[in-house]
Amino acid sequence: MSVNFIDLGAQYRAYKDEIDTSIHAVLDTSHYIMGQKLSDFETNLATFSGAKHAIGCSSGTSALILALLALDIKAGDEVITTPFTFIATAEMIAFMGAKPVFVDIDERTYNIDASKIEEKITTRTKAIMPVSLFGQCADMDEIAKIASKYGIAVIEDGAQSFGALYKGKRSCNLSVIGCTSFFPAKPLGCYGDGGAVFTSDDELAKKIRILLNHGQTERYVHKYIGFNGRLDAIQAAVLDVKLKYFNAELAKRQIIAKNYNEKLENVITPFIENGNESAWAQYCIRVKNRQKVLEICAKEGIPTGVYYPIPLHLQEVFAYLGHKKGDFEICEKISEDIMALPMSAFLSSEDQQKVIEVINKATA
Ligand SMILES: *Cc1c(COP(=O)(O)O)cnc(C)c1O
Repeated sequence: MSVNFIDLGAQYRAYKDEIDTSIHAVLDTSHYIMGQKLSDFETNLATFSGAKHAIGCSSGTSALILALLALDIKAGDEVITTPFTFIATAEMIAFMGAKPVFVDIDERTYNIDASKIEEKITTRTKAIMPVSLFGQCADMDEIAKIASKYGIAVIEDGAQSFGALYKGKRSCNLSVIGCTSFFPAKPLGCYGDGGAVFTSDDELAKKIRILLNHGQTERYVHKYIGFNGRLDAIQAAVLDVKLKYFNAELAKRQIIAKNYNEKLENVITPFIENGNESAWAQYCIRVKNRQKVLEICAKEGIPTGVYYPIPLHLQEVFAYLGHKKGDFEICEKISEDIMALPMSAFLSSEDQQKVIEVINKATA
């Protein structure tokens, strides 16, 4: 039997009775859009995160749009971000008509290098959007210092880091707005698409709730250009059950990551900055001769992933920004030798041992 990259089936079987009951409760009310189930989940989500407001929305991508809309980011504005992330981060900045301004990453954490941000700030810079990649928060205190010096906002793209800790605080509660995704493969996943926006600012929270419902303040009264960014009640029903077990799952992920760290021999294992606890959305290693290692894994039934093979500044969609190879050397170098191993709270120790043996042999 081959190993699962993320064992969503085992997770469902573990909580099946509760999840089924929770979904059926929604079916029995026939209240599929928003409603009490969503409100209950949002309350629990806010409590978990420490933010005053947690607002469910239709995806991580929607969460980013809602954050950018709420802060009035528009054509002509610049938003500083990392070129080493999933496309959505820079894509949504561009989708708003604003310009993504890339800053190279830190070689150890793979997150935006805060020491290189200030030189990219112009009079048009409206926000910094760090990504807490693979589950570890970006250098949020340093980023906050720069942002406050220039009076600009910070939006954390915490799509991969929900559950992570940064100096004792939860990811998504580290800046004026935090965004996350509940895509099934993320640390906290639903059974379809979903996401959330977090803020402790009452006015922004109110605006975001209006924006995700077509800018509507009362039925058929519209104040802003918004869109349909709502989270389904059935997804909230699934998430509300999974959230109860999330802390226990995070603890299991720590044990699995620690075991990888200790037993993998010939690779660069993840570096976790002091004061951080990763949510381990991905467990990524750097290897020599990646192509060969990927092929051996495939043959041995070990699923792997490459996040990310092409940095965003070299993507065709961003050709108009005029970047070339060599512009962000650290990010380019890491994109050539990084690879992700199976990781989930339900990875059995036998399966993990198999992964470790195959990788150690392939990299020997
Ligand atoms: C997954 C992801 C998103 C998008 O989330 P969706 O729910 O798939 O829309 C955004 N940013 C990052 C860094 C992600 O990993």
